[in-house]
Amino acid sequence: MQYKNLNSNERIEAVKLLYSNALSGIGVSALVSFVLVFAFDLTNKTTKQEKIIWLFFMLVILAIRVIDVIYFNYTKGVNHRFNANNFLKRFSVGCIATAISWSCYALWFHKSSSIVEITTTIAILSAFAGGSANLLSGSRFTSVCYSIILLMPYSLVLSLSDNYYQYILGFLGITFSAIMVASSYKSATFTQTAIKLRNQNRKLLNEMESKVEKRTEEIYRLSNTDPLTNLLNRTAFLKVANKQLADHPNEKLALLFVDLDGFKQINDTMGHKIGDQVLKEIAERLSTVCTRHLYKCRWGGDEFLILTTYEDQQDLFNFAKKVIKSISAEHERYKYQSWVSATIGIALFPEHEADLGALIRSADLAMYHQKRTAKGCVNIYNNDLKRQQEREQLLSQQLAMAIKNNGLRLVFQPIVDSKTTKVTSFESLLRWQLNGEAIFPDEFIAIAEQYNLITELGLWVIEQACAQACTFKNVQPPIAVSVNVSVIQLQDPDFVTKVVNIVNQYHVKPENLHLEITESVFAEDKLTFLAAVKELQKQGFCISIDDFGTGYSSLSSMLDIGVDIVKIDKSFIQNMDKRGLSIIHAIVQMASTLDFIVVAEGVETLEQANVLKEIGVSHLQGYYFSKPMEQHFVESYLNEQNKLCS
Ligand code: C2E
Ligand code: CA
Ligand code: CA
Repeated sequence: MQYKNLNSNERIEAVKLLYSNALSGIGVSALVSFVLVFAFDLTNKTTKQEKIIWLFFMLVILAIRVIDVIYFNYTKGVNHRFNANNFLKRFSVGCIATAISWSCYALWFHKSSSIVEITTTIAILSAFAGGSANLLSGSRFTSVCYSIILLMPYSLVLSLSDNYYQYILGFLGITFSAIMVASSYKSATFTQTAIKLRNQNRKLLNEMESKVEKRTEEIYRLSNTDPLTNLLNRTAFLKVANKQLADHPNEKLALLFVDLDGFKQINDTMGHKIGDQVLKEIAERLSTVCTRHLYKCRWGGDEFLILTTYEDQQDLFNFAKKVIKSISAEHERYKYQSWVSATIGIALFPEHEADLGALIRSADLAMYHQKRTAKGCVNIYNNDLKRQQEREQLLSQQLAMAIKNNGLRLVFQPIVDSKTTKVTSFESLLRWQLNGEAIFPDEFIAIAEQYNLITELGLWVIEQACAQACTFKNVQPPIAVSVNVSVIQLQDPDFVTKVVNIVNQYHVKPENLHLEITESVFAEDKLTFLAAVKELQKQGFCISIDDFGTGYSSLSSMLDIGVDIVKIDKSFIQNMDKRGLSIIHAIVQMASTLDFIVVAEGVETLEQANVLKEIGVSHLQGYYFSKPMEQHFVESYLNEQNKLCS
């Protein structure tokens, strides 16, 4: 009725306001009822009886209202979205009944009342009316009706009286009643506006809070997930996984290091856009496979980590195989089939490592070793790997020191013309003696590559090789020096500039420095390497493909760069009686069409040398001619050779 412009929430608030003031109002009414009934002269028996009956009715009304207040408080406690209209109606009826009861009292006992009693009554009713303006401000209708019913009828009766004193009281009562009606109206309107404003503010505040909450969630999501795959990112994974290990130190956990196989080819051949889509799809597949597993993240470009609980190693193996199977299943959308697979390394917590960083490194190591032997399989970290890792770490530290303290040296192995057996170049090969033990280059070069030492070491080798080449300056025909260049060295954007600076410093012609790179170059990040190799050729350096036939033979890439020298891997020479010979034949034929020089490596016997010469291999290298020799033997070796050849 009077709450037309309030919504349900605001009505509830208004009703709550009314009820919160109710008990004090009821209490005062009860007290005053007793005072009025018993404080004045009760000699007249009938009046006395009537007053007590009135008091009884009044107390019944008040008691019902108290019950209503209790019921209201109960309802409010169990259901804070109660129906406000019902309570408002009941409350209004209670108040108006109280007002009628008061009014009846005043009118009924008016005749029998003394002037003091009349004055007291009108004063009390005025006080009630005054109080109601505030206490009943939650309902405009109730507070206005209450004031009118309470005061107006009695004041009218008094104003009609012949008695001047009563007439004045009546007149004052009417005036006061009118003021009270206006004041109640105003006060109720004010309260309603205040409730409305408060509600609007709360609404605004709630909206703001939910916006802030949403924004916080968004920031959390952005800073914790990888934008491409929506998996956890590195930082977030480290945080949650560290917490998991700290909170459950006795729980058996496994960390799976998942590294994709063949992903680089997709990026190279189909472009980064398709590459991104593949990564996305793989992440989705991981999410499908890893439902019961704890956390997974995109660790780097094509690397993913999974932290999982497990029952036994068999269970773990099966899970890892399932992951590989799901990754390598056909990616129909992009029309490439089984190109991508994954190799997985696993480390166990707390069995292998108790620290997350070490756990990840161990899983990575297990993966790395697996990749070197057979891709697309699972490998669990073990004690052999641990020992190997410890040795690698020790060697990497010692190697770093050896590089700084000139603890390495180069040896030189001649490459000869197959027809004249004259030396045409020397291959420089690194040697390292650690505490009397010769560490093989196959081992320490891999370590240098893994521990980021190869760039520095590689430049040192080139410098030493140039120093050696410098000593051949006056030799005719010129003798070149070749150096082995690691794939990682070519990733350095300044590599070409640095090499050019070194040859200039030693006054070595670039064509007398041969750079031997392995075929694997063509399998890695093709574009970067091709650019570096082309730039080196542009500067006049000779590019030699080392260990030809063992890696990814990419004829198209070779055609692309137009290599200068191809070195047939020693395994073909050593297997010449089997398939080796036909392969060497094919390479020699290719050489004449594509115009490159062929070197056969690992020639150990005269027979091998003769066969190779006969089928047209122009250059030979191997123990048959000389083992790699110390630097100070090079000059005397050359003199000796010159004598023999002349
Ligand atoms: P590579 O470039 O294929 O070097 C030829 C290897 O074959 C050398 O082994 C050499 O001693 C060995 N060899 C030469 N003639 C014969 C032979 O008749 N029979 C047999 N069985 N072996 C022969 P080495 O010196 O142990 O080097 C191994 C590998 O280490 C090299 O293979 C090369 O890939 C790498 N390496 C050596 N020095 C360097 C370097 O300075 N930088 C880089 N990046 N790699 C290097
Ligand atoms: Ca080589
Ligand atoms: Ca080789």
